[in-house]
Amino acid sequence: MIVEDSVRVKDYLTKTKLTTLDYVINPYVGCPNKCLYCYAAYMSSFSKHKEEWGSFIDVKYTRKRINTFKIKDKKVMISTVTDPYNEFEPKYGITRKIMEQLVNCDACLSVVTKSKLVLRDIDLFKKMKHIEVALSISLLDENLKEKLEPNSSSIEERLETLKFLKQNGIKSVVFISPIIPQITDFKSIIEKTKEYADEYWFDKLNLRNSFKTKMFRFITEHYPIYKSLYDDIYNKKNPQYFEEMRNEIDEYCRENNIIYKNFYAGT
Ligand code: SF4
Repeated sequence: MIVEDSVRVKDYLTKTKLTTLDYVINPYVGCPNKCLYCYAAYMSSFSKHKEEWGSFIDVKYTRKRINTFKIKDKKVMISTVTDPYNEFEPKYGITRKIMEQLVNCDACLSVVTKSKLVLRDIDLFKKMKHIEVALSISLLDENLKEKLEPNSSSIEERLETLKFLKQNGIKSVVFISPIIPQITDFKSIIEKTKEYADEYWFDKLNLRNSFKTKMFRFITEHYPIYKSLYDDIYNKKNPQYFEEMRNEIDEYCRENNIIYKNFYAGT
């Protein structure tokens, strides 16, 4: 069960320290997608909830309209610590209301989701000046997806979503994130999606707090062979695996003329 509540905020726009962005918009606090590896759980400390991350959602409200002048030529991501098209969006429509305000703005808008619901807003995307829509895909195996990302759209639905975006002239991105060591096969994902992806983004798996414990438990149970590798990466902080992965991504994308951005520094 997920506890629903609301929270009043001053502004939907939040200035970010992320180097590749200027502003982020997170229409909800909390994320019901319940990904086993969720990197956003630290956001719990910004809410009044006692429930664990993934078991509550706060719908953000504000009377203030988005200042589109302030974000002229700026990079704005929707969203970074929730899925803007999560299962509560059909009920509350907050993301839709935000998108309606962004239609005529001159910002570079990046939407990131794991949900097919994003297609609901394609009428608005078609009117926007600079919009890209990214579907996060870390793996292609549906059974594994059920274990790691239980409440998000199936992989097949995400692939169909990408295809539809591309067919409708919306810039489509496959966000290969997180790269889960020895589980994410980025080349297979690219092979499967290259006909309907305009660009690829990459980011690595970061593990913190209780989500680190959960992932280690998962690896111990399902992939005991990789346990020492995970220990090396996440306990001993050895950067080698992701440095090599970065080089492999660079080489593969260059050889195959793939447009890409790698958001992790390799450490
Ligand atoms: S979609 Fe993102 S924010 Fe939501 S649970 Fe998954 S990793 Fe966390």
